[in-house]
Order: sequence, then C-alpha cells, then structure tokens
Amino acid sequence: MKEITILSGKGGAGKTSVAAAIASIAQNAVFCDNDVDAADLHLIFNPEIKESYDFDSGTVAVIDTEICTNCGLCEEHCHFDAIHLNSSEQLEVNPFQCEGCRLCERICPENAIESVHNLNNHWYVSETRFGTLVHAKMGPGEENSGKLVTEVRRKAKEIATGIKADYIINDGPPGIGCSAIASVTGTDAVLLVIEPTLSGLHDAERLVELVNSFNIPVFAVINKFDINTEITNKVENYLIENKIPLVGSLPFDTKMVESMVHRKTIIEYVPEENISREFYSIWDKIVQN
Ligand code: SF4
Ligand code: SF4
Repeated sequence: MKEITILSGKGGAGKTSVAAAIASIAQNAVFCDNDVDAADLHLIFNPEIKESYDFDSGTVAVIDTEICTNCGLCEEHCHFDAIHLNSSEQLEVNPFQCEGCRLCERICPENAIESVHNLNNHWYVSETRFGTLVHAKMGPGEENSGKLVTEVRRKAKEIATGIKADYIINDGPPGIGCSAIASVTGTDAVLLVIEPTLSGLHDAERLVELVNSFNIPVFAVINKFDINTEITNKVENYLIENKIPLVGSLPFDTKMVESMVHRKTIIEYVPEENISREFYSIWDKIVQN
C-alpha cells in the first residue's frame, strides 16, 4: 500500500482539484481530507456519513461566576491573556485564547475554575462514489489541527489495511503549519501542486524544505502553467536543480472551475479532453516511481 499526500505551499493553487481528479483515476484507494481547518473535498465527493466521532482537542478553563469573587488573580497570572472582564464586569475566559494550561485552576483561591474538555471538533468515515473518505470538521477558531490530521490518517490507514487498498490519497492542507507536518510524517510520497507566481514558487520552496527534512520523495505538478511562462520557467529550473520530477503541467482551463461548480471531478466532467488525459499521465508517472 502506498500513501500519497497532495500538498501546496499556499491556498488556491488547485490542490483539491488535483486531489479530486486523482480520486477519479486511482483504483482501490482510501481518501483522507487532511485540510481539517478548511475541508472542501466533501463538496465534490458528496459523502454519505457512516461513522461520526468527536475529537477531544484539549481543555479550556471555565469560571463559575456563582463562586468567583472577581479577585483578579487568574487574570493577572494567565500567560495567554485569556481572561477578561465581560460587559457585566465579571471575569470570564475567552475559550479561543485559552491554551488549557490549567494554571488558573490551580491558583484560584475559591476553586471557582474548572477545565472542561473541548469537543467542538468532529471527524467522519463516509462512503463516496470513489471509495471511503475520512474527513473532519473543526469548529471556528479551534486548534490542535495537527492532532486531528493524525487521527483521520490513522483511521484511513486502518480502513485501507482492512480492505487491502493499494493507495491512501491524502488531500493535505496548504502551508507548512503543524497540520502540514502531520500530513507528511510517514507518507510514502508527496505530490506538490505549484502555481506559477512568485509567491507560489516561494511557498513551494519552503514546503520542499519541510518535506526533504522527512526524506520523502516529492513529485511536482505546475497548475495553470500558461498564466505566466516566465515564472513557469523559474519553477521548472528550481525543480531540476532540486531533482524533483515534474510529472505534469496543467494549462489554465475554465472547465476546471466549471467541474467544481457541478461538484464533479474534471475527469467526470470532460473525460475525453486533453486536461483529463494529462491527469492520467500524471497518475501513471507517480505510481511508476
Ligand atoms: S482567581 Fe478565582 S476567584 Fe479570583 S477572579 Fe479568578 S476565578 Fe475568580
Ligand atoms: S487554563 Fe491557562 S490559558 Fe486557559 S485561562 Fe487558565 S491560565 Fe489562561
């Protein structure tokens, strides 16, 4: 079984369109949406949820206003500036700033603070027309996305092992944050989607540094290569210098957007057109390496 993670250095590079197209081609695969902060693969996959789980992302402090004397000790000692007076002049914890360190709970002279588990994040196992999809939904402003990515990947691997799948395809998050690190760790290959802009190239360079530190093979696709041929040349030179195989160059094609609007992959939308054929070629090069 081979696990392939699709990444881009920044959002909007076309990563999810590429992941969806590959889903149409890869046979006997399990899919995993690791972009848990802004999951969108489900918009195309139209999943039917079969299993649903809460994700415990840690604890947040809560002040019992019936007991609290507003002495201000917790506000003074919180290193994360998470405790403030509300409009009723009562101290309260902002759950989005609270890091769950539990210091305030220990120092409160009235025992007015307790730490409660935050179950505002969920993950799912769903059936789709392409196969099983493991995906998640984080609550607004929630943290610990890296831990959640690790959890959905663990489940995808368990399912893939159970059905003897040939591939796990991860749609990773943009950037190089902790959820990107959690998406890369232990994967067999990374497919990097690069848009030919200066910021796209710069972000791709940072991502390659990250992936190289894990010693994982990287392949690259240039998306919309024809929007800026000068920077496309720079991207190609960068890939050559860094010995990263360029497995495909996709032209700008409005049908990519149209297919998304129709909630289809490009392969489903225009199976006979050149852009779809290019995806078959990309997939062949990845699996042959
Ligand atoms: S330390 Fe305890 S009593 Fe004092 S303000 Fe904080 S919660 Fe209230
Ligand atoms: S648990 Fe830590 S971060 Fe949260 S309010 Fe208390 S002291 Fe601040």
